[in-house]
Amino acid sequence: MSDLVSFLPWHEAPARQWLSQRERFAHAWLIHGLPGIGKRQFALAAAGSLLCESPAQGLACGHCVACQWLAHGNHPDLRRIRPDAVAFEEGAGLNDAESAQTGATKKAPSKEIRVDQLRALGGWFNTATHRGGWRVAVIYPARAMNQITANALLKVLEEPPAHTVFLLVADAPDRLLPTLVSRCRRLPLSVPGPQESLSWLKQQGVDQASDWLAAAGGAPLLAQTMAEAGGSPCPAWLQDFTAAVMSGPTADIGPLADQLEKTSPEVWIDALQRLFLDLLLAASQASVRYYPSISKQTVRIADRASRANLADTAKWLNQQRAVAGHPLNAKLFVHSALQRAALACAPQA
Ligand SMILES: [Zn+2]
Repeated sequence: MSDLVSFLPWHEAPARQWLSQRERFAHAWLIHGLPGIGKRQFALAAAGSLLCESPAQGLACGHCVACQWLAHGNHPDLRRIRPDAVAFEEGAGLNDAESAQTGATKKAPSKEIRVDQLRALGGWFNTATHRGGWRVAVIYPARAMNQITANALLKVLEEPPAHTVFLLVADAPDRLLPTLVSRCRRLPLSVPGPQESLSWLKQQGVDQASDWLAAAGGAPLLAQTMAEAGGSPCPAWLQDFTAAVMSGPTADIGPLADQLEKTSPEVWIDALQRLFLDLLLAASQASVRYYPSISKQTVRIADRASRANLADTAKWLNQQRAVAGHPLNAKLFVHSALQRAALACAPQA
């Protein structure tokens, strides 16, 4: 993958504004926002703009020596610090300098940023930069740093090396080491407007763009990933579930649960969470957000169900989502979750 990355259309304006203050630029930034809005691309494009020798309105020119190095993936003043698993996803081979020096071998690539990846930066900090410019380290996702790695970075940030900017990328700052967060300036990125996202998704060739964008909660890159994974923006089983709970209190959701046993719990819980948020919106007379294609059913269920039960179950689903990666008994888990969801959708007595 080439390292010269351009900004997504919705990020150009905020990037220009942010990068225009580069003379008094902080040495560590925490770029955060919801998953699937393009934070990683923002950080890498920002790194390119900081390294560019003749930026145009703050953004990389694409032509200078620095931009050409970036395009070939070998700018000496840029380091991407990410788990090996992410590097492989991005197409970096084992000959990738950063992976090679950390000794990645045949075992499954690590999902963590290891402390030796940070320690390896020591020599880099002591090397002069190209024409005395910036040195940029992009760390993503920041939550992939374990406690030891996060503490090692904290030490570095307490006495920051000269001419060096750290760009950390995170979905949720509250899941990071608080002392580390306090060392960074925050740069929140918001979800882009639907029109901008839709025209981008159409450019990427995504069909049913508006339904996918809704299902992704407005996050365009997430919508693209979901669309590429296939299926329908509103999963077929979820449509069957709403049909079943509307058919009456004796609805048998057993076969549906059987069908989901082999699906990863994160996937079906996410979908149920979104349905319950739609139900709560409908119960407050607001428009549904995630699954407009089944909004008629959602509104009817919300009209008849107890709002307190819906809210309780939405909360319960949020809690289950946190442990969904490791259910003790996957079969029991999906059956009890669907049963509970169906009960919450039942008409009030
Ligand atoms: Zn340039």
